[in-house]
Amino acid sequence: MIKAIRGTRDILPPSSAVWNHVESVTRETFRVFNYHEIRTPIFEETTLFARGVGAETDIVSKEMYTWDDRDGTSITLRPENTASVIRAYIEHRLDQITGLKKLFYIGPMFRRERPQKGRYRQFFQIGAEAIGSDSPAIDAEVIELALEILERCGVTGSRLLINSVGDPESRQRYTDALREALEPVKDQLSPDNQRRAVTNPLRVLDSKDPGDEAIITTLPSIHEFLNEECRTHFARVRELLDARGVDYEVRPRLVRGLDYYTKTTFEILHGALGAQNAVCGGGRYDGLAESLGSRVPAPGIGFSIGEDRLVMTIEESLNAAALAPLDLFIAPLGADAGVHAALLASELRRAGVVVEVSTDAKLKRALETANKLNARYSLILGDNEIAAGVYALKNMATGEQKNVARGGIVSAMRGESDA
Ligand code: ATP
Ligand code: MG
Repeated sequence: MIKAIRGTRDILPPSSAVWNHVESVTRETFRVFNYHEIRTPIFEETTLFARGVGAETDIVSKEMYTWDDRDGTSITLRPENTASVIRAYIEHRLDQITGLKKLFYIGPMFRRERPQKGRYRQFFQIGAEAIGSDSPAIDAEVIELALEILERCGVTGSRLLINSVGDPESRQRYTDALREALEPVKDQLSPDNQRRAVTNPLRVLDSKDPGDEAIITTLPSIHEFLNEECRTHFARVRELLDARGVDYEVRPRLVRGLDYYTKTTFEILHGALGAQNAVCGGGRYDGLAESLGSRVPAPGIGFSIGEDRLVMTIEESLNAAALAPLDLFIAPLGADAGVHAALLASELRRAGVVVEVSTDAKLKRALETANKLNARYSLILGDNEIAAGVYALKNMATGEQKNVARGGIVSAMRGESDA
């Protein structure tokens, strides 16, 4: 038997209705914040991610699906989408169009991680990028947008963590200080972090190895190294969040997994998720466009919500079946009634009613099916009903039956459900 590949999943009904619900709520939220959708390819040249995400990151060093195409080009399934969005921004000269570019995407990403609850090899991200301004007002609005999506989707009890990772100048001084602080103790770190302590000490901070925790807590804080501009920026972001009444915790060790971040970084956690508790990650990336070859600066900030994890947090409290209800189940008795039922179904569907026509020859079986499908109404169609043009519409919840003429079916169903 052929099965889905490890770390990939089939999203089946009724769960798929929750996914669709999340996506329509999300699209509506993006709409009112004036974000527009961008769809980039699922695969790109490997160099884009190596440069855009950073060679020392977990993503690039061990999680990418990469292969050589027949012409020798190295290709990678996208592990994230910010690099692709910036590539598209540069390639299509979006900087020449007036105003801030506010783009969103929803789609699958691929990372070869160890599959576990909330961690898959193909997973979905809902992301936003605001490109073209370095104003802290944009940072606050982008964070508000991420929180607003979660809130509208019904997520309660999430926690926002924020930090500033500075600009290249202040980060260089911090990196030097970290390297120095790590030098005498690095032998006690896990092998991965021993390497990072030399090559990219900042990465040591977001280590997931609990054994390294004791050393990490002794390291200096980035806030001691932020220059005036970065400090002012961060203070303003906090002010603007305060003004919105947004709760947050400042976490000086929150550096996030991607090398391209500058200034503001943030993460949204949710307790119900267990070990994989991050539902959203984001940050500012002022130098990214230039590192991808842009001649004009394109400061930006964005986030990415893990849709799989978002669905996990709300799925239990949502009645998935109720998101995609069946209005009417028609049970025709005999071949002539079958034709009549098909035409009646077409007519009702044009009026927006969700209709299912039974394929069971036996009435008893058909009614059992109507029950199992949770149809709101059922209608039995025999020769008498057809001849009289009057139908017995049954409310499946109350068992109450009503005789209605053909033209009265829709209003009878609406009238009863409104009552
Ligand atoms: P984590 O610390 O959980 O590995 P990350 O820092 O690698 O997350 P980002 O690259 O910032 O994650 O991606 C943004 C969001 O995408 C995460 O907060 C998470 O919700 C989701 N995500 C990341 N990797 C996976 C995965 N393998 N499976 C499911 N969701 C994921
Ligand atoms: Mg990760």
